[in-house]
Amino acid sequence: MSKDPLELKKYIRSVDNFPIDGIEFKDITSLIETPKAFSKTCDELTRITKEFGADLVASIESRGFIFAGTIARDLHLPFILARKPGKLPNETFQKSFDLEYGSTSIEIQKNTEVGTNHKIVIVDDLVATGGTAIACAELFTENFAVKNSNILILGIIDLTSLGGSKLITERNYKIETLIDY
Ligand code: AMP
Repeated sequence: MSKDPLELKKYIRSVDNFPIDGIEFKDITSLIETPKAFSKTCDELTRITKEFGADLVASIESRGFIFAGTIARDLHLPFILARKPGKLPNETFQKSFDLEYGSTSIEIQKNTEVGTNHKIVIVDDLVATGGTAIACAELFTENFAVKNSNILILGIIDLTSLGGSKLITERNYKIETLIDY
């Protein structure tokens, strides 16, 4: 039995062969469009972030932003944007990585205030191969000397068969997700 304690799966559609053949895309638009589902999702993510003792919330463009902003607002925490190349106006640190489909890179701004001992929650909607979340975590470990164990990857969905959550744990990052498939 796969996990779904908040009964959110009824708001997630699986779309075959999107955006390319062979990918089963997990569509969270119904969840966001349903106020009670969106609200309980955000509340649970906030609860987990608070329990972790986060000093900062970071999130990865673009669906992660929908949730991360509410957490940062609820807990009065700084919110750091990890964005696709060329979107941030100041000097950036960059990291390239492979996706379940294709490859890309993400950036955070060099002038972001991050302390070595800070605890950081990285929010994304879904963990597949883990490449995106790990690349984002490495932006903090490699450029600000943040400890791996002080980083929590926080997602709505874990596609466990793709092995991302295992890889994240093996690298000594923490991970929590609300649903798995
Ligand atoms: P990964 O780096 O492989 O863990 O991929 C995670 C990122 O890609 C997340 O930001 C997701 O939004 C997106 N993603 C990857 N696979 C899927 C999928 N099957 N359904 C929806 N989004 C996906």
